[in-house]
Amino acid sequence: MLSGIQPTADSFHLGNYLGALKQWVALQDDHDAFYCVVDLHAITLEQPDPAVLRQRTLVSAAQLLALGVDPSRSALFVQSHVPEHAQLAWVLQCLTGFGEASRMTQFKDKSTREGTSGTSVGLFTYPVLQAADILLYQAQRVPVGEDQRQHLELTRDLATRFNSRYGDTFTLPEAYIPPGAAKVLDLQSPDKKMSKSLPPAGCVNLLDDPKVTAKKIRSAVTDTGREVVADPVGKPGVTNLLTIHAALSGQSVAQLEEHFAGRGYGDLKKELAEVVTDALAPVQARTAELLADTAELERVLAAGASRAREVAAPTLATVYDRVGFLPAA
Ligand code: ATP
Ligand code: MG
Repeated sequence: MLSGIQPTADSFHLGNYLGALKQWVALQDDHDAFYCVVDLHAITLEQPDPAVLRQRTLVSAAQLLALGVDPSRSALFVQSHVPEHAQLAWVLQCLTGFGEASRMTQFKDKSTREGTSGTSVGLFTYPVLQAADILLYQAQRVPVGEDQRQHLELTRDLATRFNSRYGDTFTLPEAYIPPGAAKVLDLQSPDKKMSKSLPPAGCVNLLDDPKVTAKKIRSAVTDTGREVVADPVGKPGVTNLLTIHAALSGQSVAQLEEHFAGRGYGDLKKELAEVVTDALAPVQARTAELLADTAELERVLAAGASRAREVAAPTLATVYDRVGFLPAA
């Protein structure tokens, strides 16, 4: 199993956690897991300050450990520490059709997003690098949010193409998309996925101060009507709050509807704020501890990178051989 996350913000958000990271933690029990902080992906959009990118990479790794990624079972590493990712990406780019890459909706979204200053070729080939991330480890499962489905399809297409042209080399991966919270919506614009690129009021960060979190939830856009019931079309805002509650509290949406019967949106928001801040408190404490002295973190990342290379290097060597590159003497 492989998954990755970009170090492009000072904190992960609830969408990242419920859509992907929660599964990272759960699946490591019965999978051989490789998890990476994808700094090569991060520079597909301009990262103005190198020191900030470096710090966010560390903060990202700290949050992953704090959430429960266990380095004794899973390899946790930084993408740029394993050069095979960029090397395999090049080979796969040469197998990718220009039209095929042009159909990726995330590229269309990100390249036309307000505030994007020029669109790089790197942003265009982002999904191919993602395919390399996955295929290097022969991953069978990739825990991601719903927004990554199309990229996973491209990965499977590229693996199939390589295998049929050069002989069986890559395992075909499957997206592992959680049934409940695969798409957490922005609290202010519940027609869009929660994202760090929208104004901060709609995005609950894992490292936000509890007062800030409570305020964001209190100010969430709800819907007309008064009943606390799930209805993704008619009540997307309320449904989103119920989904977040259910994912964190372990109750079903039906149980929550019963629990809130006869009560209003205010009660839902008040209780949700408690559920969220209670869940995040230990994560925040552990993240702070890991960042107070980064020696342990750096040791974990170094060990993770060397475990990753043990798998990635032989895969790349096979690929280089199959495409016909002359071995270095
Ligand atoms: P960006 O907007 O820059 O792409 P991001 O918040 O999507 O950033 P990524 O590093 O691209 O962060 O994605 C990390 C993981 O979080 C991916 O598996 C993605 O599917 C998941 N994810 C991101 N946003 C949401 C969301 N709102 N709901 C569910 N999953 C999400
Ligand atoms: Mg994303």
